[in-house]
Amino acid sequence: MRQIALGGVIVESEDEFDTVDVSASEPWDSFVATAVAHGWAGIECLSGIPGSTGATPIQNVGAYGQDVSETIIRVEVLDRESGVVSTLTNQECRFGYRSSVFKNDERDRYVVLNVTFRLPAGGSAGVLYPELRRYLEERGESDQDLRPARDPAVALQLLMVRRARVAYIYVDVHHGDGVEGIFYDDPDVLTISLHESGRHLFPGTGFPDDAGVGPGRGAAANLPFEPFTWDEPWLEAFDRVVPALLRRFKPTILVTQDGCDKH
Ligand SMILES: Cc1cc2nc3c(=O)[nH]c(=O)nc-3n(C[C@H](O)[C@H](O)[C@H](O)COP(=O)(O)OP(=O)(O)OC[C@H]3O[C@@H](n4cnc5c(N)ncnc54)[C@H](O)[C@@H]3O)c2cc1C
Repeated sequence: MRQIALGGVIVESEDEFDTVDVSASEPWDSFVATAVAHGWAGIECLSGIPGSTGATPIQNVGAYGQDVSETIIRVEVLDRESGVVSTLTNQECRFGYRSSVFKNDERDRYVVLNVTFRLPAGGSAGVLYPELRRYLEERGESDQDLRPARDPAVALQLLMVRRARVAYIYVDVHHGDGVEGIFYDDPDVLTISLHESGRHLFPGTGFPDDAGVGPGRGAAANLPFEPFTWDEPWLEAFDRVVPALLRRFKPTILVTQDGCDKH
């Protein structure tokens, strides 16, 4: 048997499928990153999920059409009752949707020590989730490359599961009415627009008291300027307002739209 240690990850055998032992304490996303880097398919969509590898069989961790039961072949456990270390096969784990024997019939009986995966070497990315598939297709990404599946999975995880707080800064002579309008009632999206006053210019919106509605009240900020405002006052207004709003809002993601029509 050839053994290569990669931190808490040991490659037990290499073939068409690689068999990989992962210690329970290995951070899950580190292992996914290792797998993607080595071209081991089957868990790339489970990117960005927090926690340890040992916890993944407990609820049969899954996302975007993949779950760990598809690639786990055995789980090494310590039986708290008998003190014996033994191995459960995939079947004995009785995996179901977000469930397993560890969560149900034998709850709290076992401590997971190691998880062994059988991963197709050089396999294709198993992207079943429509949004993720569309994203990759639109960019002409090959499903033979696992990396493009990992990146948006991490991004989607951040955006959808973790309820990201997005700050959107719009800098253009025209008011950023489109994005502001979509998120006008969303307290998790802060829009800040610096633009020439709508009193004179299309789209005629974005006045100082336009600050969001309902739960989104206070999550939209508009700084209209007089026509021909020159650099110094514009920059001073930016410096006085934007950093303070960002500090208060504490975004996890910052998007800037840097305008094609300058002020
Ligand atoms: C932002 C966010 C996003 C998430 N996204 C997903 C997702 O997309 N899909 C998904 O399936 N889950 C998701 N989860 C849930 C979470 O990531 C998983 O449940 C993960 O497996 C928890 O890992 P942990 O190490 O923090 O375990 P813990 O939360 O500490 O434990 C979870 C359970 O497993 C048991 N356990 C942990 N380690 C062991 C061990 N070695 N032996 C025996 N029992 C053990 C614990 O006793 C507990 O019952 C998400 C959670 C968060 C916070």
